[in-house]
Amino acid sequence: MTFDFGIDLGTTNSVIARCKEGKVEVFKNPVGHKETLPSVVAFRKDRILIGDKAKEYLERDASNVFGSFKRKMGSSESFWVMNLEKTFSPIELSACVLRELKNFVYTGEAVDAAVITIPASFDTVQSNATLKAGTEAGFKEVLLLQEPIAASLAYANQQQSDLSEGQWLVYDLGGGTFDVALVKIADGEMHVLDHQGDNFLGGLDFDQLIVDQLVVPYLYGKGKFENLETEFRSAKGRYNNLYFKLLILAEEAKIALSNAVETEIEFEIEDLEGTLLEISCTITRQQFEELIQPTVSRTISMIAQMMERNQIHPSSLRFVLMVGGSTLIPLVRQMITRELGLSVNCGIDPTTAVAIGAAYYAAGRKRKQTSAPDTTKNSAAAMAPLKMAYQRSSQATEEYFVALPDTSFQAVYYRLIRKDGGFDTGIKKINDRIEEMLPLLKESVNVFQLLVLDAHQQVLPLQVPGIEIVQGKFSVLGQPLPNDICLEVDDPWSGGTRLEVIFEKNALLPLRRVVTKEILRTVRKGSDEALIIHILEGSRFSNPATNLPIGSVQISGNTISRDLLKGSDIELSFEMSESRELLVTTYLLMTDQEFQNTFNPSERTVSILKLKDEITELNYRIQSEYNEATSKEEYEMAGQLKQIKTDVELLHLQAERLSSDDVTDWRYQLDDAKRKLASTFDLLTRDKHLVEVKSVYFSAKSSCQFSVEQHGSDEDKRAFSELMNREKEVLSSGSKFAIEGLTDKLQQMRHRLDWKTPEYIIFLYYHFSGFEGSYSNESKAKDLILKGEKALERQNYDELRVVVIQLSHLV
Ligand code: ADP
Ligand code: MG
Repeated sequence: MTFDFGIDLGTTNSVIARCKEGKVEVFKNPVGHKETLPSVVAFRKDRILIGDKAKEYLERDASNVFGSFKRKMGSSESFWVMNLEKTFSPIELSACVLRELKNFVYTGEAVDAAVITIPASFDTVQSNATLKAGTEAGFKEVLLLQEPIAASLAYANQQQSDLSEGQWLVYDLGGGTFDVALVKIADGEMHVLDHQGDNFLGGLDFDQLIVDQLVVPYLYGKGKFENLETEFRSAKGRYNNLYFKLLILAEEAKIALSNAVETEIEFEIEDLEGTLLEISCTITRQQFEELIQPTVSRTISMIAQMMERNQIHPSSLRFVLMVGGSTLIPLVRQMITRELGLSVNCGIDPTTAVAIGAAYYAAGRKRKQTSAPDTTKNSAAAMAPLKMAYQRSSQATEEYFVALPDTSFQAVYYRLIRKDGGFDTGIKKINDRIEEMLPLLKESVNVFQLLVLDAHQQVLPLQVPGIEIVQGKFSVLGQPLPNDICLEVDDPWSGGTRLEVIFEKNALLPLRRVVTKEILRTVRKGSDEALIIHILEGSRFSNPATNLPIGSVQISGNTISRDLLKGSDIELSFEMSESRELLVTTYLLMTDQEFQNTFNPSERTVSILKLKDEITELNYRIQSEYNEATSKEEYEMAGQLKQIKTDVELLHLQAERLSSDDVTDWRYQLDDAKRKLASTFDLLTRDKHLVEVKSVYFSAKSSCQFSVEQHGSDEDKRAFSELMNREKEVLSSGSKFAIEGLTDKLQQMRHRLDWKTPEYIIFLYYHFSGFEGSYSNESKAKDLILKGEKALERQNYDELRVVVIQLSHLV
């Protein structure tokens, strides 16, 4: 049994399709017969409206209509529905859309499993939220598929004639998100080599730009208005309802400008003096293009970065596959060709491609559970005790099939038939296995039936699952993980924390790994203390604070059978499914206890106050690095820092303008932007810090080595060589904290060794006797210095050592 249904759960539009016998059907809305369902939900007092009907209510009753909630997936934010006096989460709203899509399926079959697509750059939290929406909508099984893969599958399966090898880019610019992926086909299998994206870049931004940059200034010139931006955007604002209407009008204007060079936005508004104004604001394509040019440029530079990272020359790319409604904007297509020298491919319908690809994928994926019990006459029959293996989709003209019978298997003969009658093995004896090459009909789903027979060649009443092989369709090798998944581990050297990677970016899902860690704090049995391990998503080279927390593993003192002592081992086994569900099993060696499901996913919360603080703090850090770079005349570094600083300052301004009841998703956009800037800053300064930290390390090492050789005991020599055993690992960790920690150890050791030598004590005595005027007790210091002189004369170094200690306390 396969998934069959593919769903594009889009920010703006959603689509459902199904693949049956190699053919895809996109279902139409029974009302209005459109293939797309706007992802908009409206709450009336007595019913819930979804899609176009909901959109109509936006103008009348905006506060009870919700759209673009995909951008808030995985966040703790909820939407207050005044009409029902209750809140809805982004997950619940998405579930409403999914349920409505099920109604598109007119065939009456059960729609209880589906492949649902997500942007390639969705993080684990957002992916998990999407799975949850599927469950809430009543799906028994959901598989997530990354949108660029879906689009490529749709293209490859529909135009396969010349696609057996080669690579291309998928450029997906929809309403809310942007994704670009590098896709390659080899041997009929599709690989995603790399991808990049922005979860807050899309057509919606263009609509907002039209309102903010063109309509608002126009209004100021037409009547008496104040603080229009806040009055529009804040929930309590005077024109909040009108704002939503304007966004719809702006979208209509934008779409019109894809074909026309000029259009109008018309509406009525009452100004502060109570005058009703009839507005007709003309917008030209040129104005619109100037407005969106910087945003489109951002997508272009993401492509350029990705090509550079993968050392791809434009000539080795076949084309850029255009997906998403916003790729219908002429400027977008022009800029890709003009600035990157790549040819654009508009060979698929940009709004349904993702759902179509998801359906192809769904048809090739077996379900774990079966839905309703099978009511055919065989339902009472037992399953045949045999395992079957074969490729479910193939580019070849025949496929190898093998079935391994269990020892309890009674059958003596078998017969394999292709359903169309074109192939029949006849009755054959079963040896230790059943092995056949199955001939495939081109471009179709080949269905085979395996019959098992007893010694009298009578068919046994055993259930054998149907065998289905799709010929001529491409399959996907595996979905890549979009970001590193890391553990935040204590760094005993520094007292801070650092990241340790569990799964690396671009590794193919599903993934599995076991790591053993030492427990750094004792947890008492029966206490409220807990062992908490944070799991983060984002580059392993970043500072833990700039990465996204996706959850934590927690084991509390209440659940352990004896004290967990510091230093004992804990074994963590991580499993991440193709749909990015993270399963963590924890095994405590000390108590011999295993805990299943110890992972608690976190939701994303963005407090505006905290966000502002973080931006200020980041700005401060950049400023001090910038000052340092300028004073050292490192102009290149200073220039780069200045650029980040300008961006952070802009972010700061934007954050300042956020009201605490802001209804848009600005806070998430700003939070996302903040994290990206912090990470760029970390990477930029990391190398610089590492160079410094490493040079301090090497000088500490050589002086420690000298002291050990001069007057170290055998024990000291052993301790030193133990530290040196760690050197390679610590230096290659790239962690500033770890290197500083090792440096510290070496300095302490040297101090301890040298403390015994007269030279060092004399050196310290001169050092500490030079603070005249700044001792906490001047007369006592004077006495000590006198005492020191005498000890020095007598060469009594034990006495001198005591003087040094006492003096050091006065500094
Ligand atoms: P999503 O993946 O976000 O659900 P879609 O791929 O359906 O989005 O694209 C929706 C976006 O495309 C919207 O912002 C819509 O305004 C925009 N769009 C649709 N048609 C056009 C067009 N002809 N010209 C410009 N933008 C368009
Ligand atoms: Mg989309």
